[in-house]
Amino acid sequence: MRLLIVEDEPRIREDITAALAASGFACDTAADGEDAWFLGDTENYDLVVLDLGLPKMDGLAVLKRWRAAGHKMPIIILTARGAWPERVEGIDAGADDYLTKPFRMEELIARVRALIRRSAGLSHGVIETGDLTLDTRQMRIWASGAPVAVSPLEYRLIAYLMHHKGRVVPAGELIEHLYGDDDARDANALEALIMRLRKKLGSTAIETRRGFGYLIAEPQA
Ligand code: CA
Repeated sequence: MRLLIVEDEPRIREDITAALAASGFACDTAADGEDAWFLGDTENYDLVVLDLGLPKMDGLAVLKRWRAAGHKMPIIILTARGAWPERVEGIDAGADDYLTKPFRMEELIARVRALIRRSAGLSHGVIETGDLTLDTRQMRIWASGAPVAVSPLEYRLIAYLMHHKGRVVPAGELIEHLYGDDDARDANALEALIMRLRKKLGSTAIETRRGFGYLIAEPQA
C-alpha cells in the first residue's frame, strides 16, 4: 500500500511518515498544495493524509481539484482545533475522514487502516483466503496456521494482493503501490520478490497469470 502524506510542518510530516512507514506503508510526501495536487493527479495512491492549511494551494482546493478530476482514493484531512466549518467543507468536498490537530499517531494509523479496509470492501483487520491469513494491526502473516517472517516490502506485496484477493493485479499496478518515490522500481525486482515469497508461503500462494499479472485467489466455494 502506498500513501501520500501532505503536510507543510516538517516535524509533523516526518513524524507521520515515520509512523506510517513503521506500520507497513510506502510513503511519498508533499510540503505544499501544488506538489500535492501534482502527485495525487499523476500517481496512484491507496490513501492520502491531507493537511488543509498549506502554502501555494490550500488543502481544500487540492481536494476539490482531485475529486473534480475523478480521483477516488480515500482521503483523511487534518484540521486545526476548532476549525469545524473547514471540516464540514472538507467532508462535503469528498474527504472520507478527518483528524483534529493535535492527534495521537495511533489514532491516525487506525483510521488509515480502517479506510483502506473499507475501500477494499473488507469489514475487519484480519483478512483470510485459502491458507493465508493477514493481520493488518499486527502486520503479521500466517500460512497454514504457521507465522511467516517477512520483510516490510514482502509484507506490502502480500497486503496489497490480499486487499485485492480474487483479482489479477497487473505488475505495473503492483509496482506503483509497493514502492515509494525514491525506490528503484522494475519488473525483475518484482518477480524476484514474488519468488522469495513463494518459498515462504508455498508455491501456489501467489499465482502468475502470464501477460496479465499476479493473483491471490479466493478459495472455491
Ligand atoms: Ca499546515
